[in-house]
Amino acid sequence: MVVVLEKNVTDKQLENVIKHLEDFGFAVHKSTGVESVVLGAIGVQPNFDTRKVKILEGVAEVYRITEPFKLASRSFKKDDTHIRIKDVVIGGKDIVVMAGPCSIESEEQIFILAEIVSKAGAKILRGGAFKPRTSPYSFQGLGEKGLEVMRSAADKFGLLIITEVMESSQIDLIEKYTDIFQVGARNMQNFSLLRDLGKITKPIMLKRGLSATIEDWLMSAEYILSNGNHSVMLCERGIRTFETYTRNTFDISAIPVVHKKSHLPVIADPSHATGLRDKVIPMARAAVAAGADGIMVEVHHDPENALSDGPQALLPEQFSNLMKQISAIAEVIGRKIV
Ligand code: PEP
Ligand code: MN
Repeated sequence: MVVVLEKNVTDKQLENVIKHLEDFGFAVHKSTGVESVVLGAIGVQPNFDTRKVKILEGVAEVYRITEPFKLASRSFKKDDTHIRIKDVVIGGKDIVVMAGPCSIESEEQIFILAEIVSKAGAKILRGGAFKPRTSPYSFQGLGEKGLEVMRSAADKFGLLIITEVMESSQIDLIEKYTDIFQVGARNMQNFSLLRDLGKITKPIMLKRGLSATIEDWLMSAEYILSNGNHSVMLCERGIRTFETYTRNTFDISAIPVVHKKSHLPVIADPSHATGLRDKVIPMARAAVAAGADGIMVEVHHDPENALSDGPQALLPEQFSNLMKQISAIAEVIGRKIV
């Protein structure tokens, strides 16, 4: 249920409404919008008589959210969510680029790539220290050593960091180094991990599961939001279909669909979506044209020898071309790559 408060609501009235909602058995989430304060009253009470809330002083409007996801929905929050990290804002007018290797492989490698991506205009350095690999015999990541060298490389070149968390026991360690936590596609429905990430304050980027519907994906975001962390962005990274000429099928239509249903920012990852270097630039262009709030791409200076995902990594020169091309497209739709 959404409770919209009157524009001139007093603190006392607001407190009183919250107390009533809690007494009725709802968990209350407050959202301060441009026009008014809105309360999300969450709890399964299909027969609740909303008039009990409508009559309270300071209440302008009460309505039910019909979607199964509540806090993630546009009905709860009309304005786009802006996630600010230092001087970068995700979900606003500007489009943010996250780039770097699939895995952090060595200190030398991450410093080389941090310099390359920052010079080309990326604001956020990506790279995994804990890798979810299909085979247990493949490279599993450098762990804390990887996080350490990634942080120094990012700091040297003025970048933020995004890196993947695979399980709850890694949260405290990763939190010391990262600016954004990435939840990988394979973990989109690891509900205990999502709940634990809801209890921290750093932003979370939730990748879409390999076979997840958009609704499943938004329900997973709801786990994080309902546990108290409202800094959530979503990442479309391709889904499994019957097609075999690409690694996954890039669901570009998910971008405008999510924007309509939700206020959360949407990032597009054309690297995992296609799995092939020569398909990444066209798909990145398409994602920006479709309204993505950010692009995540894998870049490597020596992809033949990369320890993971070499075939989909852009070469440095291709990456700077991508930046130029998506900047031109952003301008057409009144946005800017920052
Ligand atoms: C990654 O970003 O390197 C990754 C493993 O992505 P996904 O979870 O989308 O497969
Ligand atoms: Mn990868």
